[in-house]
Amino acid sequence: MTSSIAGVAVITGASSGIGEATARHLHAAGFKVALLARRRDRIDALAADLGDGALAIEADVTDRDALVAAAEQVKKELGGADVLVNNAGVMLLGPFSADQRGDYRQMIEVNLLGAITTTEVFLDQLTASGRADIINISSVAGRTARSGNGVYAATKWGINGWSEALRQELLPTVRVTLIEPGVVATELPTHITHESTNTAVNEMYSKAEVTADDIAEVIAFAIGRPRHLAINEILLRPSTQV
Ligand code: NDP
Repeated sequence: MTSSIAGVAVITGASSGIGEATARHLHAAGFKVALLARRRDRIDALAADLGDGALAIEADVTDRDALVAAAEQVKKELGGADVLVNNAGVMLLGPFSADQRGDYRQMIEVNLLGAITTTEVFLDQLTASGRADIINISSVAGRTARSGNGVYAATKWGINGWSEALRQELLPTVRVTLIEPGVVATELPTHITHESTNTAVNEMYSKAEVTADDIAEVIAFAIGRPRHLAINEILLRPSTQV
């Protein structure tokens, strides 16, 4: 587990799924955790459940002012970030058409620009730490595009390219790790607005066996490696996924 360091971890999208599980794993490993998301009730309940060292901060990753305020609060109350997990995301799949243009914009603003802006805002704290990690949650969709996932895939391909450039720029002070999961049982597909796509994808996800805990464990493992070792990229699928 996280043997070599414990410090302060900032997790976006901590109100459910992979973000919540990651917060639980890192907190159990001794990290103080800042839980960022829009659903205040969910992050408050998680912070109360975790107890000491957990701080709920309501923040929309598309709102830079909210992220700046969050960074100030993390600095003041927890002493500054050593780990940033860029996890917040939406997967609004559907056939490419003008009807989906609001969904496309939202995916780009949350998945891609949200991660970039959060990193930009927390970068001073991470570099000041001198032993920091950025974990960028991409997807198998960042490697393989499929009919019906074009813009979602574009956001994840974007994360992959940006993440690699960032890795080269920030080493060795900040290690940058890209995580690319396949299907994971979370609420992610429930927000799909295109009706028949929603039905089909939720049917597929109802059989998902890989859990958010499985992914959180891998994230905690990567962060826990000794500082002379950087895990750059992890692609992980359910054993049954093509
Ligand atoms: P969830 O829907 O459970 O989690 C998504 C999280 O993102 C929520 O906590 C949500 O919080 C947050 N979020 C969404 N929009 C915003 C916003 N504007 N500002 C701040 N937070 C936001 O799904 P997952 O846990 O599955 O998804 C987490 C990440 O994993 C995503 O980036 C997703 O693309 C990626 N992923 C998931 C896979 C899967 O199969 N589940 C596979 C591959 C990658 P709130 O609504 O409270 O703001």
